[in-house]
Amino acid sequence: MILGAGLAGLATAARLRSGYRLLEASDRVGGLCATAVDEGFRFDVTGHLFHSRDAEIRAWIESMLGPRLLRIERRSRIFSHGVYTRFPFQANTFGLPPAVAFECLKGFFEAWDRRDSYAGPPRDFDDFIRRYFGDGIARHFMVPYNTKLWGVAPREMSSAWTDRFVPKPSRDDVVAGAVGLNDRELGYNATFLYPRGGIGELPEAIHRRLAIPAELGTAVLGIEVRRRIALTTRGPVPYRRLVTTMPLQRLGLLLRGAPAWVARAASRLRCTSLAYLDVALERRPGNDYHWSYVPEERYPFYRVGAYSNFSPALVPRGKGSLYVELASRRPFRRSHLPAVVRGLRELGLIRREGDIRFVRPRRIPFAYVVYDHAWEKARARLHAFLAENGILSCGRYGSWEYSAMEDALLAGRDAARWAKEGEG
Ligand SMILES: Cc1cc2nc3c(=O)[nH]c(=O)nc-3n(C[C@H](O)[C@H](O)[C@H](O)COP(=O)(O)OP(=O)(O)OC[C@H]3O[C@@H](n4cnc5c(N)ncnc54)[C@H](O)[C@@H]3O)c2cc1C
Repeated sequence: MILGAGLAGLATAARLRSGYRLLEASDRVGGLCATAVDEGFRFDVTGHLFHSRDAEIRAWIESMLGPRLLRIERRSRIFSHGVYTRFPFQANTFGLPPAVAFECLKGFFEAWDRRDSYAGPPRDFDDFIRRYFGDGIARHFMVPYNTKLWGVAPREMSSAWTDRFVPKPSRDDVVAGAVGLNDRELGYNATFLYPRGGIGELPEAIHRRLAIPAELGTAVLGIEVRRRIALTTRGPVPYRRLVTTMPLQRLGLLLRGAPAWVARAASRLRCTSLAYLDVALERRPGNDYHWSYVPEERYPFYRVGAYSNFSPALVPRGKGSLYVELASRRPFRRSHLPAVVRGLRELGLIRREGDIRFVRPRRIPFAYVVYDHAWEKARARLHAFLAENGILSCGRYGSWEYSAMEDALLAGRDAARWAKEGEG
């Protein structure tokens, strides 16, 4: 049995081909990888761009989407101190006010000189930032941006996830970026793939082309671990092996017949929710950047992207659309709108409030898994308990990690292999 028809669940089903049941709580496939249509505007669940590192997965999605798949060079920026600079901040101080650039460079080279003096790995994410980037970059970007993004201070987080997602520039990169010489995009997402009509075309194509029999509108409410029965909104479903992609934290609380420590370990896992806005514009956005990072506290959002800059097919002709990822975890109220409008004007994305056609507040209850100091142990114990009981919990929230769509597809590939082993 497969629980969840997001990318991880769909990829598991695609690999298994037959001999499974796929249960999905919602009335559509795709999970977070989805596109909704509203008055002719197509909105994803904030920016979902496909960064491919695995040749096999890339070939697979190309075969699913064919000519509908666009290949796009990233145009992302950082907006701070009233100017746009290139990504990543740590290697692109050119264009910042000279005093700020100086502070960043000075801190970077001081940190560089101290590099070999540390006995062990960084204590936490804050320590990681100061070791590799220095105090200036910490102050002007890394600490405020990450605090807004994760909803917790870097001190509370481990640095376990940083290797892949936080580019560490060389000294030459930093010097070149200080004088405006960086002509290559750094980081894990310099180019991306994107379906013309929105990211939701990807799971829809997998679902349709492979005729995957997903049982939509079927939520799992409990799991009898010893008897291997899932209790669903449509009655009990027995299984031999279970691949689940629902959030691990929630799964840990649904297991019946598990020792009490399992629920305790699950409740130790932390995740931040995300409130964001889908914004329809009467005209195109004021610049052609795909997205911009906004570290300063005075702005209520930490990142703004322009769907309509990914593909013109996402909006009616001549219109534009944005997603605005809010720093506050509290539900959005209309009274918060003026600060958002002011921010969008300062970023040059709109000229006046009248450019906005409508705003839809949205929420992702499980958005960012927090790599705090309890993460490693609680997660490992839960996965070990599940494995002993014929359950594999995978995907971004099943595994309980910070990962991307391609990882979800890879997790599905591995899960199918695991499920087949169980038959042998
Ligand atoms: C704000 C944000 C931006 C992102 N941007 C990018 C990006 O640009 N590029 C990128 O590659 N990745 C991005 N990601 C990550 C990407 O969304 C995920 O890696 C991927 O979609 C995870 O797929 P999944 O199948 O593991 O999980 P999900 O998409 O969460 O799917 C899980 C499925 O399980 C179902 N389910 C849950 N509970 C139950 C239950 N009790 N019973 C039955 N079904 C249930 C859900 O309805 C859902 O369909 C982003 C994520 C976020 C939060």
